[in-house]
Amino acid sequence: MVPSPNHCDAVARWLSGARCAVAFTGAGISTESGIPDFRSPGGIWSRHRQILYDEFMRDPAARLEYWRQRCDPELDMSAAQPNIGHQVLARWEAAGRLHAVLTQNIDGLHQLAGSRCVVELHGTARQVKCQDCGSLYEARPLIEAFRATGRVPNCPTCTRGRLKLATISFGQPLDQDVLQEALAWAERTDLMLAIGSSLVVEPAANLPRLASKRGARLVIINREPTRLDAMADAVLRGSCGELLAGIARSLEG
Ligand code: NAD
Ligand code: ZN
Repeated sequence: MVPSPNHCDAVARWLSGARCAVAFTGAGISTESGIPDFRSPGGIWSRHRQILYDEFMRDPAARLEYWRQRCDPELDMSAAQPNIGHQVLARWEAAGRLHAVLTQNIDGLHQLAGSRCVVELHGTARQVKCQDCGSLYEARPLIEAFRATGRVPNCPTCTRGRLKLATISFGQPLDQDVLQEALAWAERTDLMLAIGSSLVVEPAANLPRLASKRGARLVIINREPTRLDAMADAVLRGSCGELLAGIARSLEG
């Protein structure tokens, strides 16, 4: 779908006039980098059993299954590269037009594109965290080691610690400090762009709702309807990359 120039122009105007613009992103901004979202038919969870956090912690067989799943090319995001959507947001931040990116994504692509103020609500798949001593490691070498040996890695620091990606698993609470930081942005912003999210996962999806209730303009960019469309000041239906590039053109033109 070709973005409507009128919509892009309106959002560009709002962005130029905003005091504190904030983006809230979901899996949809990264599908154009080759990472599938969760809610597409035939998605990854139709082929894999979801491993709950408690199960991971108590059962070595669940940990083995978890590490096997991480080796599925669809779940291994470590080779993906940012696309035009991530790049536009990074450019806006560098130009002082955008203040923060709050993301549900775990792929690290905002930072790779150059965004600096990124709040990762669900953690990052670029790192592995020891659930026992808290040490952090780069994910890729550990995933490659598992691929080569088929053995679940142990923590090099505390030797027996349970290593898991530094992401929030099913059944695991969000990091409260990270959530508070995101809430503070949602309270402060006067323009929130919700990009590539179905806005169904709570409590993260509460952030655009909160921003709107506090008086911020809410712009929703997604190729399908979302839960909060009725609340938005503008809904731009189409590809995240094309629409963000369209807004960027309106800003520059
Ligand atoms: P979601 O899968 O619920 O929704 C994604 C939305 O994006 C859908 O409505 C879809 O129609 C839309 N979409 C997909 N590609 C698009 C495109 N190119 N242009 C415009 N719209 C597009 O994703 P969510 O709301 O982020 O929630 C799912 C959960 O899954 C999150 O908790 C997130 O942590 C996790 N997740 C992350 C990644 C990632 O890091 N890239 C990938 C899959 C899932
Ligand atoms: Zn450890």
